[in-house]
Amino acid sequence: MSTERTTGPALVVQNLTKRFGERTAFSEVSFEVAYGEVFGFLGPNGAGKTTTVRTLGTLIAPTSGAATVAGLPLSADNGVAIRSRIAVMPESPGLYLRLSVAENLSYFAGLYELPDRRARIERALRSVGLEHRADDLCRSLSKGLRQRVGLARALLTDPQVLFLDEPTSGLDPVAAREVHDLIDALRKRGVTIFLTTHRLAEAEQLCDRVGILNTTLRMIGRPDELREQLFSKSIEIRTRAPLADPDEVFAALPGAEGWQRSEDGAYVLSVTDADTAAPAAARALVTAGADLLALTPIRHSLEDVYLQLIDTDVEAQQR
Ligand code: ATP
Repeated sequence: MSTERTTGPALVVQNLTKRFGERTAFSEVSFEVAYGEVFGFLGPNGAGKTTTVRTLGTLIAPTSGAATVAGLPLSADNGVAIRSRIAVMPESPGLYLRLSVAENLSYFAGLYELPDRRARIERALRSVGLEHRADDLCRSLSKGLRQRVGLARALLTDPQVLFLDEPTSGLDPVAAREVHDLIDALRKRGVTIFLTTHRLAEAEQLCDRVGILNTTLRMIGRPDELREQLFSKSIEIRTRAPLADPDEVFAALPGAEGWQRSEDGAYVLSVTDADTAAPAAARALVTAGADLLALTPIRHSLEDVYLQLIDTDVEAQQR
């Protein structure tokens, strides 16, 4: 990684807005990303994710607001300096298919005027596990392997901040898993990663924090924080036969906030603390003479959070 790394956050975004004529791509977006963090940027189609990446990547100018990227204020004057500290991997890796893997990397290393090109190319190829495919024509590679070449291209500059725009879009599960492993390896090396994705399990698995964008930033935090903000804690209880008096069993439990019956007959109990309520519920059910089949704390996924947020989002439904 570049030795010029600064101490503040890797990204500081303050009230950033981008409009194309009458159309607002994103509006008043503010967040920070720390060095070494993997930050996931989620949102429905047209939410403004790619435009945010293009703006922070200095490819287009914001309409208003401010940002600091890898320690440098985002401005036209700083474009070259910022680009020397970051890399952007767009959804389509943009390779010359008639050139070999090594020729592509050599071309881009020349374009970026990088020193020590041979060593950089070897390092980048090793990082993505393609050292044995250097002489293969890109045309002959699968989509997954081309994506890995795109990642190698992005790594040529030893970026402090790596923007990955939907890096697993269109990949099969095996190829997507390989890209996940590469991202994880980069994270372990301390590379800051800004990842846009539609794959919520991917974000949950890879990202320290996520932001959910829908023109404006709707939520930001660790996946578990977002779950807690949106969902009450609950326990699912299954008994062999319906309870004679569920109110009596559930109302006395510590931290019980209410219960309802799901369509398939389970009782869903809302509680303040599942760890305390679950054993107490088990005891109360046995005392009440119920045949307890299962008692499971419900863990909402990031997908549940996302769908809950977007389902109630009028703008998303109109898009
Ligand atoms: P997706 O998940 O589909 O890639 P996204 O979240 O990346 O979507 P953007 O591509 O950033 O969304 O687009 C945000 C909005 O800005 C959309 O309404 C889009 O039509 C608009 N937009 C993006 N680029 C331009 C442009 N160059 N000119 C005009 N409008 C644009």
